[in-house]
Amino acid sequence: MSQAADIIIIGGGAAGCSAAMQLSLRGRRVLVLERALLGSGSTGRAAGLGAQLRESPDETRLLMKGIEVVKDIEKRVKKKIFTGTGSLHVASDPERAGELRSFVKMGKEIGFEIDLVNADFAGRLLPCMRSDDLVEFCYCPTDGHLEPSELLSSYVELARAEGATFLTGSPVTDLLVEGGAVKGVSTPDGDHHAPVVINAAGPWSYLLAGLTSTPMATAAMGHAYLVTRPLPDVPIATTDAALRDRKNRIYSRPEAGGLLVGTYEELPTEYDMETFPADFEMSQMSSPRDSLQVATLIDCASRRFTFIDGRTPMTVTTGIMTFTPDGHALCGPVRELQGLYHCTGFNGRGVFQSTSMGILLADLVCDGKFGPGVKHLRADRFDDDPGLRSREDIKARCRKRYSGHYSIKTES
Ligand SMILES: Cc1cc2nc3c(=O)[nH]c(=O)nc-3n(C[C@H](O)[C@H](O)[C@H](O)COP(=O)(O)OP(=O)(O)OC[C@H]3O[C@@H](n4cnc5c(N)ncnc54)[C@H](O)[C@@H]3O)c2cc1C
Repeated sequence: MSQAADIIIIGGGAAGCSAAMQLSLRGRRVLVLERALLGSGSTGRAAGLGAQLRESPDETRLLMKGIEVVKDIEKRVKKKIFTGTGSLHVASDPERAGELRSFVKMGKEIGFEIDLVNADFAGRLLPCMRSDDLVEFCYCPTDGHLEPSELLSSYVELARAEGATFLTGSPVTDLLVEGGAVKGVSTPDGDHHAPVVINAAGPWSYLLAGLTSTPMATAAMGHAYLVTRPLPDVPIATTDAALRDRKNRIYSRPEAGGLLVGTYEELPTEYDMETFPADFEMSQMSSPRDSLQVATLIDCASRRFTFIDGRTPMTVTTGIMTFTPDGHALCGPVRELQGLYHCTGFNGRGVFQSTSMGILLADLVCDGKFGPGVKHLRADRFDDDPGLRSREDIKARCRKRYSGHYSIKTES
């Protein structure tokens, strides 16, 4: 049945549902259309890490705001979504140590809680890590992790309370366009009309952008993390700190008595979303224990956590992330089609980033303003780049960005 709304959101993942909540709270009639089930894309696969420290002050400020948003949501829905563990960043050579010091300087300048700590202190925060080769440590006490499904269901609950409608099993197949402006969308069950349409379709977003004449600079990259079963001789407390060891390309956090470790490998798996069947859900994905992806993951994890090897009892979760050429999300209006907005391309950080991204999008859609310090997120910033016309060029640049996810960054 056709539904009229002020705003249609395509995609019921973290980004779409956060935007739905923020826009509904501002009195807009919101309709969310999800091709499968809510959270059945990347969001349902996320590890949930919530690190606020980023390479730039603006990105870090956005994520500091995100923690406030989560705390406010927890109060409203009376549920626990965020677990504060603090996080450690470690360096094993002088170059990486310099990188950590520049992070600490930048963090302190913007009022983010961060400091260098010594090896003994770091060892107490995360006893199961090897530290004899480390030369510098920094600690961010207000970091932690989110439960992605709790965050998503809270967005939905609060949006519904303000009148938002969520239709699942409702794939958008076309955009309705008239006189250079979007007027709504088509689905197999009929058309839905609204003067504003938000493309929050995660890894599938570039297919929807393909319905316009400007290609979207995102690519779909495979990603995996492991979770060890609790081991009697390696106690891991739920309060142990999260870790980023950028040289070994890994992140970790405690999970149910075991350890979750993920890696941004040098040679990622890539996907073309158009090749998946219409009923594809990311929970159907798996990576065999003898695959190169899992072997690389175990190898990277074992360099910092020596108790992990190929025989360690563990589960492996695989999924797909949406990457952009410069590592920043795409959020904002599309130049050529009035009323169409993109909100995607979170480069492996979208569950946590969704917390503040919903506010940015609501500011844009309701007030036409993009707050200070977020110009780097503009959705049209790649439109004039002649090197990003073909899918192959876009994929190559996004692949490079994924494999350099933890490369040295020293800008402050
Ligand atoms: C293994 C793994 C670990 C991760 N770990 C973290 C982490 O620790 N912290 C973190 O913050 N992030 C993490 N991420 C990244 C995070 O999951 C994503 O950035 C985030 O979920 C993106 O949300 P989204 O709403 O943009 O996309 P999605 O969750 O993919 O949502 C998009 C939705 O759009 C729907 N859709 C697509 N096409 C259509 C259409 N035509 N019509 C209607 N609906 C459509 C899809 O079915 C999907 O549900 C991880 C990702 C993976 C894969």
